[in-house]
Amino acid sequence: MSSRLRGKNVLITGASSGIGEACARHFAQAGSNLLLAARRKDRLEKLKAALESQHPQIKISTFELDVRNRAKVLATAATFGDVDVLVNNAGLVIGLEKLEDITEEAMDTMIDTNVKGLVHVTQAVLPGMRTRDKGHIINIGSVAGHQAYGNGSIYCGSKAAVASITKALLFETIDTAIRISEINPGMVETEFSVVRFKGDKSKADSVYKGVHPLDGNDIAETVVFVAGRPDHVNIAEMLVFPTNQA
Ligand code: NDP
Repeated sequence: MSSRLRGKNVLITGASSGIGEACARHFAQAGSNLLLAARRKDRLEKLKAALESQHPQIKISTFELDVRNRAKVLATAATFGDVDVLVNNAGLVIGLEKLEDITEEAMDTMIDTNVKGLVHVTQAVLPGMRTRDKGHIINIGSVAGHQAYGNGSIYCGSKAAVASITKALLFETIDTAIRISEINPGMVETEFSVVRFKGDKSKADSVYKGVHPLDGNDIAETVVFVAGRPDHVNIAEMLVFPTNQA
């Protein structure tokens, strides 16, 4: 593990499960202090207790935060202190339906969380990074933002927006020492997968088609690797697939 991450303050959104929780474990292993945010505070508290007993030298704070609530995000960010690394991971998919069948509620929830939520947290943290002229923002996109698929229009669109926002941010910070990265997972077995297939295993099997999915640790290891490069190295974009996913 990279000693460059020891003592860094790492904010992870969506740290209560899946990839975000795995990121928390891997940054803790690297000696980073953690700011863990999600709506399910009970899950964050459990994770904090487990990580504190394994890594007594690190500081961990938890924040009950809905990234869709811009005012709350900005108010909460005032208590974060200096954030060295922001992992914009909070995100979701609600069902996968034909465009004409998607409800307004599902559409709003995906766009408000995956796109606007990511922007809210970035707006809260980036000014501090600019003032200190250092920091790293790592956005968790998706292969879906680069390869659209049927029945995934809004989710794919939301992740395509993340890809564009990430690239624009790269240009907007080009005259600073701030690093901007996008990591795009393929299929990862998390709670997200249960929601995506509404617990329907045969539907899941038909989509996975024998692919052995990644798990949260596979992505967390990548995130920690990207964050742990020297300050002059920015890995701007990565696609991380299961070996047999096309
Ligand atoms: P999980 O469902 O396991 O985790 C999603 C996390 O996002 C949870 O911690 C959840 O916390 C949080 N979250 C959801 N909505 C909000 C909100 N409004 N405010 C704050 N936090 C929120 O799924 P994954 O770990 O798989 O997903 C993590 C990221 O990875 C997402 O951005 C997803 O799009 C992306 N991704 C996942 C892939 C996969 O195959 N699993 C593939 C490609 C990308 P809580 O409910 O407690 O708020």
